[in-house]
Amino acid sequence: MNIGPDKAEILGWLREENPERLKELWRRADETRRQHVGDAVHLRGLVEISNHCVRRCAYCGLRAGNCALARYRMNADEILQAAWQAVKFGYGTVVFQAGEDYGIIASRLADIIRNIKDEMPLAVTLSLGERSYDDLAMWRDAGADRYLLRFETSDRALFEAIHPPLGDQPCDRIAMLRRLKEFGYEAGSGVMVGIPGQTYASLADDIALFRELDLDMIGIGPFIPHPATPLGAGREEHSIAGQEQVPNTELMVYKAVALTRLVRPDANIPATTALATINKKNGRELGLQRGANVFMPNLTPLKYRALYEIYPAKACIGETGTACNHCLTARIEMIGRHAGQGAGGRRDRQIAAALSAGKELCHV
Ligand code: SAM
Ligand code: SF4
Repeated sequence: MNIGPDKAEILGWLREENPERLKELWRRADETRRQHVGDAVHLRGLVEISNHCVRRCAYCGLRAGNCALARYRMNADEILQAAWQAVKFGYGTVVFQAGEDYGIIASRLADIIRNIKDEMPLAVTLSLGERSYDDLAMWRDAGADRYLLRFETSDRALFEAIHPPLGDQPCDRIAMLRRLKEFGYEAGSGVMVGIPGQTYASLADDIALFRELDLDMIGIGPFIPHPATPLGAGREEHSIAGQEQVPNTELMVYKAVALTRLVRPDANIPATTALATINKKNGRELGLQRGANVFMPNLTPLKYRALYEIYPAKACIGETGTACNHCLTARIEMIGRHAGQGAGGRRDRQIAAALSAGKELCHV
């Protein structure tokens, strides 16, 4: 069954510029968010555990070709300390994100995950790129709960142009997302808005694909040019008509977030750091008021923070975990919402809803 707007309606909203009419989209997204996931804003402590990467994505500052970037990899003690900080702040989830770094040895990370699951009341989310199915299965067995892997764009040709394969191994992030769900992970994905070469039609397809994949988490942020990348330096051209190019504006991100809430009413949708980067004043709050229900405070040790430079002038680059925590909690309260308790997983909500409706759990 199709939920929410069809593709023609999605396209119509993406092209809508009238602020009065857009108020109706914001209202519908906010109401859908309230009905399906409530007023809680779930906090996921983000730990950027390594900035090494073997890939050469044309958009990302961590790409292997960026020799100007000093590289780091956190050790087990540093990772565990950051996880304890998440516990101290009352977050229900810790998110380990990195470049695709094979220096992160799968068995060692599995030990860290087991340690966290034994000792801390945390859900563990991983976002470590296109690791092998063996690695993904090992981490799931160790207790990892969720995996984030953005498909970036559903336009296959554009994806191949901006995300070159490693050697002769083809990349199929959409197939990987399906497999992650089979392993029992909650699966998260997402896209960048305004990638050079992204058309309105392909962004509408992306949003329709969120619905089809039945994703648990969906992250959407603007494409932000990084001068040390082919796309950021304008070295890559993608020939589409000017009026077909999706702009990488704040407004376009809100439209994509709001439409995503309409097609996946009970998904966890963050107000992303990239959104906060292009509107440091209140981008996050507006994201929360237009469909989002998650914040990701940064718990990466300060000495590494600036080195995880996916794009320039990233929000919160100089703030300690404590400062980030205070700032985000205050922003949540200022708009009349409250910080969520517990892990805040989509599956937990589905099980709770099924139990209260007296349904068999095998139907969830
Ligand atoms: N390496 C893993 C991966 O690619 O899935 C996880 C880390 S990667 C830095 C996380 C996300 O950052 C990517 O999925 C991409 O959407 C986003 N990103 C990378 N470069 C960006 C840019 N220039 N502007 C906005 N977002 C960007
Ligand atoms: Fe590496 Fe991920 Fe950046 Fe691509 S987006 S270069 S895989 S960190």
